[in-house]
Amino acid sequence: MDQISNFGDLRTLKYCAFCGGETGTRDHCPSRVFLDQPFPENLPVVPACVECNSSFSKDEEYLACLISCVLAGTTDPDRVGREKVAKILRRKHALRSKLESSITVIEGNIIFEPEHDRVKAVLTKLAQGHALFELHESVAREPDDISVFPLLSLTEQQRIDFDQPVTAEVWPEIGSRAMQRMLTGQDMDPTGWIVVQPNMYRYAASAVGYIEVRIIINEYVGCVAQWE
Ligand SMILES: [Zn+2]
Repeated sequence: MDQISNFGDLRTLKYCAFCGGETGTRDHCPSRVFLDQPFPENLPVVPACVECNSSFSKDEEYLACLISCVLAGTTDPDRVGREKVAKILRRKHALRSKLESSITVIEGNIIFEPEHDRVKAVLTKLAQGHALFELHESVAREPDDISVFPLLSLTEQQRIDFDQPVTAEVWPEIGSRAMQRMLTGQDMDPTGWIVVQPNMYRYAASAVGYIEVRIIINEYVGCVAQWE
């Protein structure tokens, strides 16, 4: 990714993107656990307080591992697709057994029962970071609406709606990254998604009366978060 400087209002950047508290650190958004090496250059960073910066990392690790295990149908490190996840599973036995114990086999199919609260907490955090980075909108609170789902669970029409370009009826804030992307198309695919790393992570952010962030991880998990 190319770096896009923030020419807009910098006031929102004084506060933690996630809790709105005093900021002391910066956090990659998305966290690198969702990406493979070589990492894209100039990953988005947002201001974060020390507590938020560290408190989410276990949940992010959990989600990254969960997705890889679901896709592989196993928690076996030798059989999951991502080397980074394989390393985590080899090292963190508690995490692997937790994932293992969330498996049920229904008619020969391996089903993982996710810890919904943790998954939602991670997606909320990611969406908050994207809203601040792209739109200069501080949404350091629970979304008014958030849904997380496997893309495979969407009907054909739902999938079309979800994939649709996020069209701004009003122009983004002058100087915001969203505005600059609109002018340059930087890091955007033809449908308006911002691709952090192909097949790994992409997102879209818009402010059309309300703030909406959409996220796709591993082309498997989708999320829509909205703030009024
Ligand atoms: Zn915080």
